[in-house]
Amino acid sequence: MPALAFVLARDGVCLDQAHPLQVTRWADDADSAADLAVLIGILITATQRRLLPRSPACRGRWMPSYSHTVAKNDVPRAHPPDIAHTSMQMVLIGERLLAGTGHPVRPWLCPSPTRVGATEERSMRKTIAIVGAGLGGLTLARVLQVHGVDATIYEGETSAKTGEQGGLLDIHEEIGQVALRAAGLHQEFLTLVRPGEDAKRVVDRHATVLFDKPADPGSARPEVDRGELRRLLIASLTPGTIRWGHKLTALTHRPNGGYDLAFTQGSTTHADIVIGADGAWSKVRPLLTPAEPLYSGTCFIEIALASGSHSCRAGVAAIGSGTLMAVAPGKGIIAHRYADGRVRGYVALNKPEVWMRSIDFDNPSAGLRQVADEFDGWSPLLTAFVTQSDAEPWLRPIYALPIGLRWDRTPGVTLVGDAAHLMSPFAGEGANLAMYDGADLASKLVEHLDVEVALSAYEERLFPRSSDAACRSAHNLETFFGREAPQSVVTLFASARRS
Ligand SMILES: Cc1cc2nc3c(=O)[nH]c(=O)nc-3n(C[C@H](O)[C@H](O)[C@H](O)COP(=O)(O)OP(=O)(O)OC[C@H]3O[C@@H](n4cnc5c(N)ncnc54)[C@H](O)[C@@H]3O)c2cc1C
Repeated sequence: MPALAFVLARDGVCLDQAHPLQVTRWADDADSAADLAVLIGILITATQRRLLPRSPACRGRWMPSYSHTVAKNDVPRAHPPDIAHTSMQMVLIGERLLAGTGHPVRPWLCPSPTRVGATEERSMRKTIAIVGAGLGGLTLARVLQVHGVDATIYEGETSAKTGEQGGLLDIHEEIGQVALRAAGLHQEFLTLVRPGEDAKRVVDRHATVLFDKPADPGSARPEVDRGELRRLLIASLTPGTIRWGHKLTALTHRPNGGYDLAFTQGSTTHADIVIGADGAWSKVRPLLTPAEPLYSGTCFIEIALASGSHSCRAGVAAIGSGTLMAVAPGKGIIAHRYADGRVRGYVALNKPEVWMRSIDFDNPSAGLRQVADEFDGWSPLLTAFVTQSDAEPWLRPIYALPIGLRWDRTPGVTLVGDAAHLMSPFAGEGANLAMYDGADLASKLVEHLDVEVALSAYEERLFPRSSDAACRSAHNLETFFGREAPQSVVTLFASARRS
């Protein structure tokens, strides 16, 4: 077995080994980088499969650094371009290395295909289909593209505008912002931040203030508008990446590899790798697990007031400058006041879903009055948010996948975001995790030559990460609307403030 030592130089990659390949190569342009990528891919595959020992010098973070170097084509010009091999020759070297081991040579994450012939390129690259252009799928595609890897997103909505959800999301420094940095969009994200919208106020049914936290301009969890964040990600993608109006209806595994995807409008396509980023009711998930979302017992109804609404001025003033949470066992009214004066929020009720769906919202004001009746004895300052709401009263039953959901590895397919770990919004992490999943999966696909190694490495971190968040989220749902509310909510925010 040949012994190889990989050495990461400060400004580029040097494969430094003596016998028998004598590979010491520098790439100084995109073409050479492409060749070098293929060769390194083969060597990495061989190393990962323990066909070659890894030198202690290469432990750590050498591969991401390498990807970065090639993707940015910024390898040092000082070194001579002595890449003599074409990519095909490198495949032959790989085959020699792996001869007799039963391991096929399948280099595919070649960041720059410029010197590789079209046919050759097709045979070496894998097609990646992402189903769903939510925050998870968009981040995944963006981070792949940052590393020079193409992917296509198939989205059921017909345009970026249809089905757009507003509302604020707080993007956590250690989750969502990590993903945005990987996507190279953190600076642009900072321009979307709405300082001063993260104030929190907890009141009881009489609108008595129990907890009041003013806005923190230096918050590690700044708020942004969901629609604006999504638009930022969409605009960052290569034009044509998203196929709008492609709602997946069927996904079938081809015996000889890859998947056939069929869409509502009758078109079909094939992909080697399929990532389900298609949210709560994922059509990709059944390929991995029979688990389905279950109703949590809590249902939201959207409420809103136009800016300057005169009908409940006192109520709006009671919100303060951020979010007001009026909670009691089994129910609550949550209202956010935007800097421009608009109010948006939710009424929450712990009721059977069938009961909620029996409310006749064809007549919105009558339907909302019926909802307000559930708040008998509450301050009119609070119930006015319900009776005076001018929002279309959308029902949002809160569903969640089983906590700790995992699945066995299925070749070429995995999930990100809500498709993988739908949970109640009470940990405030669903969107953060969706983006983090997307960025993490992209980096694994870039890092590992072997798709199955990449997907396993991703899922190995995904399962514990999502299980932790799902536990917190289920616990917080109980904290909000359980028997100890509103005191339990005060304790929750007070302890978060201390930590
Ligand atoms: C009321 C509420 C408040 C929330 N607040 C927060 C919060 O403050 N912070 C936070 O981090 N999270 C919050 N969340 C959770 C967060 O919204 C989700 O976790 C997040 O949007 C998940 O992103 P995703 O990309 O996985 O899925 P989604 O955003 O659901 O995107 C899925 C995409 O897939 C598309 N799609 C679906 N089916 C198909 C198909 N068959 N074919 C093609 N395309 C398809 C959809 O059109 C959609 O564009 C909240 C959720 C709710 C309900």
